[in-house]
Amino acid sequence: MIAYVGVGANLGDARANVLDALARLAALPGGALLHTSGLYRTAPIDSSGDHYINAVACLETSLDAHALLGALQEIEQAHGRERPYRNAPRTLDLDLLLYGDEVIDTPTLSVPHPRMHERAFVLVPLYEIAPDAVIPGLGLARDFGPQVADQSIYRID
Ligand code: ADP
Ligand code: MG
Repeated sequence: MIAYVGVGANLGDARANVLDALARLAALPGGALLHTSGLYRTAPIDSSGDHYINAVACLETSLDAHALLGALQEIEQAHGRERPYRNAPRTLDLDLLLYGDEVIDTPTLSVPHPRMHERAFVLVPLYEIAPDAVIPGLGLARDFGPQVADQSIYRID
């Protein structure tokens, strides 16, 4: 299965945290890291604190979607992620954006990620590695670009 994962951090050395997360994604059992976007600097949305560093990764994985979410949460935990309140600043946030063309709606997992089409920090890195990505139920990801054009994002490397 091909999965896309959104990576973000805005506490501590955010760039180092994102790079470490990408390395940990590459090391997940039963799969491979196929593509990673560049790193982007973005302004916080509905959240406080410093700017974020964001990226999107494309994985091939044999994990089912819930097991993959569990693996993502273990990587967050390895970075000491705490959730004191919703949208709190975070050392590392890993979101399962797309899992093939599946639509999943359970109490712990919603795929496609329900807010991905509203977020430049997801869409812009996603276009970079998957210009023709489709969000099941919504259509081509790139068609949502104009709606997020007011969100500040620029590529750092
Ligand atoms: P944010 O929406 O800001 O990323 P959190 O990372 O704190 O917020 O949310 C984590 C919770 O969201 C987890 O408990 C997880 O079960 C749930 N969740 C639902 N769908 C997804 C998804 N596609 N990717 C990651 N977490 C998800
Ligand atoms: Mg999250």
